[in-house]
Amino acid sequence: MRKIQMVDLQSQYEQIRDEINRGIQNVIESAEFVKGGKIVDFQHHLETYLGVKHVIPVGNGTDALQISLMALGLQSGDEVITPTFTFVSTVEVIALLGLKPVFVDVDPKTFCMSPQSVRNAVSSRTKAIIPVHLFGQNADMETLLTIAKEHNLFVVEDACQSIGAEYTFSNGRQVKSGCMGMVGCTSFFPSKNLGCYGDGGAIFTNNDALADEIRCIANHGMHKRYHYDRIGVNSRLDSIQAAVLDVKLNYLDSYIASRQRAAAFYDAAFSRCQLITAPARNPQSTHVFHQYTIQLAESIDRDALKAALNEKGVPAMIYYPIPLHLQKAYSGEVYKFGDFPVAERLSTSVISLPMHTELDGEQLQCITDTVLSLVEQCKR
Ligand SMILES: *Cc1c(COP(=O)(O)O)cnc(C)c1O
Repeated sequence: MRKIQMVDLQSQYEQIRDEINRGIQNVIESAEFVKGGKIVDFQHHLETYLGVKHVIPVGNGTDALQISLMALGLQSGDEVITPTFTFVSTVEVIALLGLKPVFVDVDPKTFCMSPQSVRNAVSSRTKAIIPVHLFGQNADMETLLTIAKEHNLFVVEDACQSIGAEYTFSNGRQVKSGCMGMVGCTSFFPSKNLGCYGDGGAIFTNNDALADEIRCIANHGMHKRYHYDRIGVNSRLDSIQAAVLDVKLNYLDSYIASRQRAAAFYDAAFSRCQLITAPARNPQSTHVFHQYTIQLAESIDRDALKAALNEKGVPAMIYYPIPLHLQKAYSGEVYKFGDFPVAERLSTSVISLPMHTELDGEQLQCITDTVLSLVEQCKR
């Protein structure tokens, strides 16, 4: 059996080696490393895949979030609502821009931003909300978009983990993750569902004026060369990464299907175990399983389980061990333990199992057998 890894990018590369090598070689020979045709090709292919008017490639997912917020014209002190149970980027960029992060709790089933929590947090200074489609499943966007409309708020989607996930509105309209709000952001970090071989990211929007502003900000704040209309940043996807992504985009749907097959195997194996809660499915969204994250019963010592799994050659990770409202950099004078009970409970009870495109039946059987036998031994 091949060694079990959280993410197996070597085995994935072996399947597409020739195409990838050719793509990278072509960029080197063209010497168009930074601007250039390959980036434009990939941009258009991704626009078609997503069914969105504008894809703006940038340097990474964090930049995508920062540039999106910069483009909305918010004022210092304006409040931006974000879930406390997520990766740090979302709140980092809010704080960096002098805006005020306002945390909310998540839904206990889907782990995504709780709409009721958002309703409670909206104030007269709230200008935007950033739903995070955590672990690869879209948040309750229908409700969140309704709340945003009622209060005139921008919706910036963090789709860094959810590219390709489809959301179905109650009128039947199907939209891809990141393309429902005013603007959406993704990351092409190597381990993401559409990952390159370095750093990369992109911003999605259907709004022409906003797309123009975003392009300007990402390029030093200039529309016309050496004319700086506003303060910008330097954030771009390079051509070698675009060449990798342009190959992998053709496989994205099959990669998603592989992840969903692995998830179905896990679901079936864990359905008999009272100590494990498999990831819940939002009926309005497909799940692209950036992570397969289970919840353990309170009686289980999670750290002991993680250590025992590792000992048996089954890696597991904790996403995320400490909610953002309890982090030194972001708790401020405002937040304390007890503020967001769902996120606090999840942060002590979730564990993510190996999830990638190359898991085979033998590996999945080994992982589930090992988890099921060890979980019984890790009761407190
Ligand atoms: C990965 C990730 C980011 C940041 O992406 P980078 O490309 O690493 O900057 C932001 N938000 C979420 C939810 C992520 O998973």
